[in-house]
Amino acid sequence: MSNQIIRAKDLGLAGCHVCDQVINLDNNITANCPRCNSKIHYRKYNSTNRAWAFLISAFIMYIPANTEAIMITGAIGRESTDTIISGIFYFLAHGDWPLALVIFSASVLLPLLKIISIGYLLIMVHRGSDLRKREKTRLYVIAEVIGK
Ligand SMILES: [Zn+2]
Repeated sequence: MSNQIIRAKDLGLAGCHVCDQVINLDNNITANCPRCNSKIHYRKYNSTNRAWAFLISAFIMYIPANTEAIMITGAIGRESTDTIISGIFYFLAHGDWPLALVIFSASVLLPLLKIISIGYLLIMVHRGSDLRKREKTRLYVIAEVIGK
């Protein structure tokens, strides 16, 4: 069995970034999608620079997302604010560690792992690394799935 990887681009195929329609570009650089009329091209323009910008933005917003108040509760004459982190400690202190674990995983751990994963993949793209393409593709798919 051959280990050669045939890319969709080698066959002239490209996917619409809006509706996922796959079309044959017939060696054109761009075309319009027959389904949604969006521009179709092999690669998104400046994709790595845009990915770096989104990654840096995500990293900047990661800390306030977890430390700023997400809920303000008020009772007669008393007001309290809760953050993601204080909520995790609240549930831990009250013995509800499964809920604390879910909040910690979804709000703290997984976003951080996703930032690290995308950063690693972008560094590998900049280095032009051809090593472990399948593993890097799997890492990208996992990062994309857990992001949702
Ligand atoms: Zn489309």
